[in-house]
Amino acid sequence: MTDCLFCKIIDGQIPSSKVYEDEFVLAFRDIDPQAPQHIIIIPKEHIKSANDITAENSAVIGKIFEVAAKIAKDLGFADNGFRVVNNCGEDGGQTVSHLHFHLLAGRNLGWPPG
Ligand code: AMP
Ligand code: ZN
Repeated sequence: MTDCLFCKIIDGQIPSSKVYEDEFVLAFRDIDPQAPQHIIIIPKEHIKSANDITAENSAVIGKIFEVAAKIAKDLGFADNGFRVVNNCGEDGGQTVSHLHFHLLAGRNLGWPPG
């Protein structure tokens, strides 16, 4: 999608600090980290939000969680733990309209979220 920030990151039009990439998934460091480790994991297919996950496109969600587990091991925070967050729509606090999951780690994360 031409006017999507994360599609531009996938295309390389906008630079990012990549942590992981394969045919289906890209992970890169959040530009405004909310924890010592804050990584954004996205499908390469432009899916607008969690509201747009369907039987046809949902396989990539499993891949995203596989990637989260791999990154947690590779970066050394699997044992201490982490949080995976998806913000959906206005009330969910979604600011970029390309489905993404925040992988947060490196401190004790509060609950409930704001
Ligand atoms: P959300 O608020 O859930 O839509 O999350 C969007 C996230 O994208 C925020 O945490 C932003 O800090 C992050 N973000 C925005 N622009 C960039 C960028 N160019 N590179 C990396 N992360 C970004
Ligand atoms: Zn997109």
